[in-house]
Amino acid sequence: MFVIFGTRGLKHTVSDSPVLTNSCPNCNNGNLVNKLYRRWFTLFFIPVIPLDTVDRFYECDSCKSAYNENIKTILQKSQDEINENQKQAKLIFAKALVASMTHMSIIDGDFAAEEEREIMDAIEGFPEMKEDLMAVHHHVKEHANKDNQVFNYLNDARNALSSEALINILAQAAVVLLADGAIEKEEENLMKEYLIACGLPKEMYQNLIDRLTQKDISELKEGQLN
Ligand SMILES: [Zn+2]
Repeated sequence: MFVIFGTRGLKHTVSDSPVLTNSCPNCNNGNLVNKLYRRWFTLFFIPVIPLDTVDRFYECDSCKSAYNENIKTILQKSQDEINENQKQAKLIFAKALVASMTHMSIIDGDFAAEEEREIMDAIEGFPEMKEDLMAVHHHVKEHANKDNQVFNYLNDARNALSSEALINILAQAAVVLLADGAIEKEEENLMKEYLIACGLPKEMYQNLIDRLTQKDISELKEGQLN
């Protein structure tokens, strides 16, 4: 009888290589699976002995696009960049938040315990940047808006964040304004200045206060202002 032998290429999934989920640059939601293309020695057309690895690559399980293995590094890099940007935005948000809350709490010349508690609660929400935020808090508490520092934080926030995020910051500052029960004229004026600094109409002031006084304050701490 004839012995028919030959070689044949087969595609395998590399089982110990993590799948890059929803990462396909072509179709945007396919998973990239690490594959290797290997030549086999075949006997009667059946692969029996693996030969050299011919190629390793990533293949999308949805649109079947194939990518050089470098895709993993490229995706990782852009993910790192996204993470870094998000971290920066979060820090900008938190600093503007703490600066405006602290500033609001001292503007009437009286730093109430309820106000302090609101600020500490806000800082607790960002445990990984607590030190930075405590420094902002102490600095504003001591020097108020010296060198325009509070408005500089708000300006950074305006440049980096969405208006939803800005409204969120101002709503939290308004919580401080309401914390000691009475709204002083200085507080109202300052809130209007904050709105203007954030590029929002100062007429929003009444709307903000109305909503806050109607709503359960704890809902606002979750960042809900509907
Ligand atoms: Zn795809």
